[in-house]
Amino acid sequence: MLEINNISTFYGNIQALHDVSLKINEGEIITLIGANGAGKTTTLLSVSGIVQPKSGEILFKGEPIHRMKPDKIVQMGICQVPEGRHIFPYLTVSENLDMGAFLRKDREGIKKDLEQIYDLFPRLAERRHQQGGTLSGGEQQMLAISRALMARPRLLLLDEPSLGLAPLIVQQIFEIIKKIKEESGTTIFLVEQNANLALKVADRGYVMETGRVTMEDKASSLLSNEDVKKAYLGI
Ligand code: ATP
Repeated sequence: MLEINNISTFYGNIQALHDVSLKINEGEIITLIGANGAGKTTTLLSVSGIVQPKSGEILFKGEPIHRMKPDKIVQMGICQVPEGRHIFPYLTVSENLDMGAFLRKDREGIKKDLEQIYDLFPRLAERRHQQGGTLSGGEQQMLAISRALMARPRLLLLDEPSLGLAPLIVQQIFEIIKKIKEESGTTIFLVEQNANLALKVADRGYVMETGRVTMEDKASSLLSNEDVKKAYLGI
Protein backbone atom coordinates (compact mmCIF):
# COMPACT_ATOMS: atom_id res chain seq x y z
CA MET A 1 0.00 0.00 0.00
CA LEU A 2 2.75 2.43 0.95
CA GLU A 3 6.33 2.26 -0.18
CA ILE A 4 8.96 4.66 1.08
CA ASN A 5 12.09 4.30 -1.00
CA ASN A 6 15.36 5.85 0.17
CA ILE A 7 14.03 9.21 1.28
CA SER A 8 16.30 11.90 2.69
CA THR A 9 14.56 14.82 4.38
CA PHE A 10 16.08 18.08 5.58
CA TYR A 11 15.10 21.02 7.78
CA GLY A 12 17.29 23.72 6.24
CA ASN A 13 20.80 22.31 6.50
CA ILE A 14 19.88 19.68 9.10
CA GLN A 15 19.42 16.26 7.61
CA ALA A 16 16.70 14.50 9.63
CA LEU A 17 16.30 11.38 7.44
CA HIS A 18 19.04 9.45 5.66
CA ASP A 19 17.91 7.06 2.91
CA VAL A 20 14.91 5.80 4.82
CA SER A 21 12.97 2.91 3.27
CA LEU A 22 9.95 1.06 4.57
CA LYS A 23 6.86 -0.70 3.31
CA ILE A 24 3.32 -1.11 4.58
CA ASN A 25 1.03 -3.78 3.22
CA GLU A 26 -2.72 -3.27 3.10
CA GLY A 27 -4.42 -4.17 6.38
CA GLU A 28 -1.24 -4.18 8.45
CA ILE A 29 -0.29 -2.26 11.55
CA ILE A 30 3.34 -1.30 11.32
CA THR A 31 5.20 0.59 13.98
CA LEU A 32 8.24 2.80 13.84
CA ILE A 33 10.03 2.96 17.16
CA GLY A 34 13.08 4.91 18.27
CA ALA A 35 14.43 7.43 20.74
CA ASN A 36 13.64 11.16 20.89
CA GLY A 37 14.80 12.93 17.76
CA ALA A 38 15.40 9.72 15.79
CA GLY A 39 13.29 10.99 12.89
CA LYS A 40 9.99 9.19 13.47
CA THR A 41 7.76 12.26 13.21
CA THR A 42 9.70 13.49 10.18
CA THR A 43 8.99 10.16 8.46
CA LEU A 44 5.25 10.61 9.05
CA LEU A 45 5.35 14.26 7.97
CA SER A 46 7.12 13.19 4.77
CA VAL A 47 4.27 10.78 4.03
CA SER A 48 1.53 13.33 4.74
CA GLY A 49 3.29 15.94 2.59
CA ILE A 50 3.94 18.47 5.33
CA VAL A 51 7.66 18.21 4.69
CA GLN A 52 8.95 17.05 1.32
CA PRO A 53 11.89 14.71 1.03
CA LYS A 54 14.83 16.10 -0.93
CA SER A 55 15.47 12.76 -2.59
CA GLY A 56 13.90 9.33 -2.81
CA GLU A 57 10.24 8.54 -3.45
CA ILE A 58 7.03 7.69 -1.63
CA LEU A 59 4.46 5.58 -3.46
CA PHE A 60 0.87 5.13 -2.31
CA LYS A 61 -0.78 2.26 -4.17
CA GLY A 62 1.92 2.65 -6.78
CA GLU A 63 1.38 6.38 -7.28
CA PRO A 64 4.15 8.86 -6.35
CA ILE A 65 2.92 11.22 -3.60
CA HIS A 66 6.18 12.81 -2.42
CA ARG A 67 5.66 15.96 -4.50
CA MET A 68 1.96 16.31 -3.69
CA LYS A 69 0.43 18.91 -1.36
CA PRO A 70 -0.96 17.67 1.98
CA ASP A 71 -4.62 18.31 1.01
CA LYS A 72 -4.24 16.11 -2.09
CA ILE A 73 -2.64 13.40 0.03
CA VAL A 74 -5.60 13.52 2.44
CA GLN A 75 -7.97 13.21 -0.53
CA MET A 76 -6.12 10.08 -1.60
CA GLY A 77 -6.97 8.49 1.74
CA ILE A 78 -4.02 9.17 4.02
CA CYS A 79 -4.89 10.83 7.30
CA GLN A 80 -2.54 11.82 10.12
CA VAL A 81 -3.30 12.15 13.82
CA PRO A 82 -0.52 14.51 14.92
CA GLU A 83 1.45 14.32 18.13
CA GLY A 84 -0.31 16.50 20.69
CA ARG A 85 -3.74 15.72 19.22
CA HIS A 86 -4.74 19.24 18.03
CA ILE A 87 -8.48 18.89 18.36
CA PHE A 88 -10.65 22.03 18.08
CA PRO A 89 -11.03 23.02 21.75
CA TYR A 90 -14.03 25.32 21.33
CA LEU A 91 -16.02 22.94 19.14
CA THR A 92 -18.08 20.18 20.68
CA VAL A 93 -17.12 16.53 20.32
CA SER A 94 -19.72 16.06 17.60
CA GLU A 95 -18.60 19.21 15.74
CA ASN A 96 -14.99 17.99 15.90
CA LEU A 97 -16.12 14.72 14.33
CA ASP A 98 -18.05 16.60 11.61
CA MET A 99 -14.82 18.44 10.75
CA GLY A 100 -13.15 15.09 10.11
CA ALA A 101 -15.74 14.34 7.42
CA PHE A 102 -15.56 17.72 5.69
CA LEU A 103 -14.26 16.28 2.42
CA ARG A 104 -17.07 13.72 2.22
CA LYS A 105 -20.44 14.17 0.58
CA ASP A 106 -22.06 10.79 1.40
CA ARG A 107 -24.42 11.87 4.18
CA GLU A 108 -25.65 8.34 4.88
CA GLY A 109 -22.12 6.98 5.10
CA ILE A 110 -21.10 9.79 7.45
CA LYS A 111 -24.07 9.04 9.72
CA LYS A 112 -23.20 5.35 9.79
CA ASP A 113 -19.53 6.03 10.55
CA LEU A 114 -20.51 8.40 13.35
CA GLU A 115 -22.61 5.66 14.95
CA GLN A 116 -19.69 3.25 14.65
CA ILE A 117 -17.36 5.77 16.27
CA TYR A 118 -19.75 6.23 19.16
CA ASP A 119 -19.93 2.43 19.54
CA LEU A 120 -16.15 2.23 19.56
CA PHE A 121 -15.78 5.18 21.95
CA PRO A 122 -18.82 5.23 24.29
CA ARG A 123 -17.08 7.96 26.29
CA LEU A 124 -17.28 10.28 23.27
CA ALA A 125 -20.95 9.47 22.79
CA GLU A 126 -21.65 10.49 26.39
CA ARG A 127 -19.77 13.73 25.85
CA ARG A 128 -20.90 14.56 22.33
CA HIS A 129 -22.20 18.02 23.32
CA GLN A 130 -19.17 18.91 25.44
CA GLN A 131 -16.43 21.23 24.14
CA GLY A 132 -13.34 19.33 23.01
CA GLY A 133 -11.02 21.41 25.19
CA THR A 134 -12.81 20.29 28.36
CA LEU A 135 -12.10 16.59 27.75
CA SER A 136 -9.35 14.71 29.58
CA GLY A 137 -6.09 13.99 27.71
CA GLY A 138 -7.14 10.41 26.97
CA GLU A 139 -10.55 11.50 25.71
CA GLN A 140 -8.93 14.13 23.50
CA GLN A 141 -6.68 11.44 22.03
CA MET A 142 -9.75 9.30 21.35
CA LEU A 143 -11.41 12.31 19.70
CA ALA A 144 -8.34 13.02 17.55
CA ILE A 145 -8.26 9.40 16.34
CA SER A 146 -12.03 9.41 15.76
CA ARG A 147 -11.91 12.66 13.84
CA ALA A 148 -9.32 11.13 11.51
CA LEU A 149 -11.46 7.98 11.12
CA MET A 150 -14.40 10.16 10.02
CA ALA A 151 -12.40 10.90 6.86
CA ARG A 152 -12.56 7.14 6.20
CA PRO A 153 -8.81 6.90 5.56
CA ARG A 154 -7.21 3.96 3.82
CA LEU A 155 -4.03 4.64 5.73
CA LEU A 156 -4.05 6.11 9.24
CA LEU A 157 -0.85 7.75 10.51
CA LEU A 158 -0.66 7.91 14.30
CA ASP A 159 2.07 10.00 15.93
CA GLU A 160 2.74 9.06 19.57
CA PRO A 161 -0.85 8.40 20.62
CA SER A 162 0.33 7.42 24.12
CA LEU A 163 2.21 10.66 24.81
CA GLY A 164 1.37 12.20 28.18
CA LEU A 165 -1.39 9.73 29.06
CA ALA A 166 -1.83 7.64 32.20
CA PRO A 167 -0.86 3.95 31.81
CA LEU A 168 -4.44 2.67 32.01
CA ILE A 169 -5.59 5.07 29.30
CA VAL A 170 -2.59 4.13 27.16
CA GLN A 171 -3.71 0.47 27.37
CA GLN A 172 -7.20 1.48 26.23
CA ILE A 173 -5.85 3.51 23.30
CA PHE A 174 -3.78 0.54 22.11
CA GLU A 175 -6.79 -1.80 22.44
CA ILE A 176 -8.73 0.60 20.26
CA ILE A 177 -5.96 0.77 17.65
CA LYS A 178 -6.17 -3.02 17.38
CA LYS A 179 -9.94 -2.91 17.14
CA ILE A 180 -9.83 -0.28 14.36
CA LYS A 181 -7.68 -2.59 12.28
CA GLU A 182 -9.82 -5.64 13.00
CA GLU A 183 -13.19 -3.98 12.44
CA SER A 184 -12.50 -1.58 9.59
CA GLY A 185 -9.43 -3.09 7.96
CA THR A 186 -7.75 0.34 8.08
CA THR A 187 -4.01 0.15 7.53
CA ILE A 188 -2.13 1.80 10.37
CA PHE A 189 1.32 3.37 10.57
CA LEU A 190 2.06 3.88 14.26
CA VAL A 191 4.94 5.98 15.53
CA GLU A 192 5.66 5.36 19.19
CA GLN A 193 8.16 5.75 21.98
CA ASN A 194 6.25 3.16 23.99
CA ALA A 195 7.96 0.36 22.08
CA ASN A 196 6.62 -2.40 24.25
CA LEU A 197 2.95 -1.69 23.63
CA ALA A 198 3.48 -0.64 20.03
CA LEU A 199 5.22 -3.92 19.17
CA LYS A 200 2.45 -5.84 20.90
CA VAL A 201 -0.27 -4.44 18.61
CA ALA A 202 1.79 -4.22 15.41
CA ASP A 203 2.36 -6.86 12.75
CA ARG A 204 5.80 -5.58 11.83
CA GLY A 205 8.16 -3.01 13.21
CA TYR A 206 11.01 -0.74 12.17
CA VAL A 207 13.64 0.69 14.47
CA MET A 208 15.02 4.13 13.72
CA GLU A 209 18.24 5.68 15.05
CA THR A 210 19.53 9.13 14.16
CA GLY A 211 17.54 9.37 10.95
CA ARG A 212 18.24 5.85 9.70
CA VAL A 213 16.27 2.62 9.78
CA THR A 214 18.55 0.20 11.60
CA MET A 215 16.30 -2.83 12.02
CA GLU A 216 13.09 -4.27 10.62
CA ASP A 217 11.30 -7.47 11.47
CA LYS A 218 8.07 -9.06 12.58
CA ALA A 219 6.91 -7.24 15.70
CA SER A 220 7.03 -10.45 17.75
CA SER A 221 10.66 -11.01 16.71
CA LEU A 222 11.64 -7.44 17.63
CA LEU A 223 10.00 -7.92 21.04
CA SER A 224 12.32 -10.82 21.76
CA ASN A 225 15.40 -9.27 20.14
CA GLU A 226 18.14 -8.70 22.76
CA ASP A 227 19.30 -5.34 21.33
CA VAL A 228 15.73 -4.02 21.17
CA LYS A 229 15.04 -5.26 24.68
CA LYS A 230 18.08 -3.44 26.04
CA ALA A 231 17.64 -0.19 24.09
CA TYR A 232 13.86 0.25 23.96
CA LEU A 233 12.09 -2.11 26.32
CA GLY A 234 14.14 -1.48 29.45
CA ILE A 235 14.67 -5.22 30.00
P1 ATP B 1 10.31 12.77 19.06
O1 ATP B 1 9.94 11.43 19.56
O2 ATP B 1 11.05 13.59 20.06
O3 ATP B 1 9.17 13.51 18.40
P2 ATP B 1 11.27 11.93 16.46
O4 ATP B 1 11.90 10.58 16.38
O5 ATP B 1 9.87 12.04 16.02
O6 ATP B 1 11.41 12.49 17.94
P3 ATP B 1 11.82 14.11 14.68
O7 ATP B 1 10.88 15.04 15.37
O8 ATP B 1 11.44 13.57 13.38
O9 ATP B 1 12.20 12.92 15.65
O10 ATP B 1 13.22 14.87 14.57
C1 ATP B 1 14.31 14.37 13.80
C2 ATP B 1 15.42 15.42 13.77
O11 ATP B 1 15.02 16.57 13.05
C3 ATP B 1 15.84 15.91 15.15
O12 ATP B 1 17.22 16.08 15.16
C4 ATP B 1 15.14 17.23 15.28
O13 ATP B 1 15.83 18.11 16.13
C5 ATP B 1 15.13 17.73 13.86
N1 ATP B 1 13.95 18.58 13.59
C6 ATP B 1 12.66 18.22 13.72
N2 ATP B 1 11.83 19.24 13.37
C7 ATP B 1 12.64 20.27 13.01
C8 ATP B 1 12.41 21.61 12.56
N3 ATP B 1 11.18 22.07 12.36
N4 ATP B 1 13.49 22.37 12.30
C9 ATP B 1 14.75 21.90 12.47
N5 ATP B 1 15.04 20.65 12.89
C10 ATP B 1 14.01 19.85 13.16
